[in-house]
Amino acid sequence: MTAFLANYHTHTTLCDGTDTPAAMAEAAYAKGFAALGFSGHMDPAVHMDWEEYRDAIGALRERWMGRMDVLTGVELDQCRPRDAVPGAEYVIGSTHFIPLPDGGLGCVDHTFEDARRVCAEYFGGDWYRMAAAYYEAEAQVYERTRCDIIGHFDLITRFNHEHPCFDEEDPRYLRPAMDALEILARTGAVFEVNCGAYNRGRRRDFYPARPLLKRLRELSAPVCLSSDAHCAALLDGGFADAAEAMRACGFREIAVWKHDGPAGQVVRTAVRL
Ligand SMILES: [Zn+2]
Ligand SMILES: [Zn+2]
Repeated sequence: MTAFLANYHTHTTLCDGTDTPAAMAEAAYAKGFAALGFSGHMDPAVHMDWEEYRDAIGALRERWMGRMDVLTGVELDQCRPRDAVPGAEYVIGSTHFIPLPDGGLGCVDHTFEDARRVCAEYFGGDWYRMAAAYYEAEAQVYERTRCDIIGHFDLITRFNHEHPCFDEEDPRYLRPAMDALEILARTGAVFEVNCGAYNRGRRRDFYPARPLLKRLRELSAPVCLSSDAHCAALLDGGFADAAEAMRACGFREIAVWKHDGPAGQVVRTAVRL
């Protein structure tokens, strides 16, 4: 399917996943993975004991060495500078929250009721205004987290399939999204094509949706393939369909990471899609 099967967006029982890191690694190896990157959450809603996590994944790396490369990543959100996670080998930068005028944070992906309440209370019930605020925060995700990977770029659409609230083709939605996309494309960070919501039947498309993915191709932005797995069964969920969608948009390669640097550090390279 891809020349180098890997996933770098992986959650476990150490944050909000349902399988242990060891079980995830076993399953990845059984599926023929060449590399597995863990990306526990460190954000205002889900917060791990960083040292416990880093040590657990480091021990797994030792156990699997020579058979499958195991990497210690992290998924950062608000106010978590890279210094807060010493030893992280790569960072996924994600926006799950919109900063609110009263200093609070409005979660966009927890429940539809939550998102609707935030929209009603802070954006006068106007989903386009809320989406614009989301993309304003998303445009800063690289500055906030110094990420290697831009996570689920258009997460604001999380409930829009089950509960249609805005038209994803409307310029009021697309313009702020495209603006954020172009700002982030200039950083050189890799955009993930995230199968998480697709796998759980929440969306018919991946993050980012097709029009955004096509624009990324025009901008020659690098992309990678992510399952955003919260359980072992979905580690490679959606990969074949997502790879086909990426090829249809003109992508011919994806970014991968492995311990291949001169001092054994993680380096990014590209493989054929
Ligand atoms: Zn996320
Ligand atoms: Zn995630």
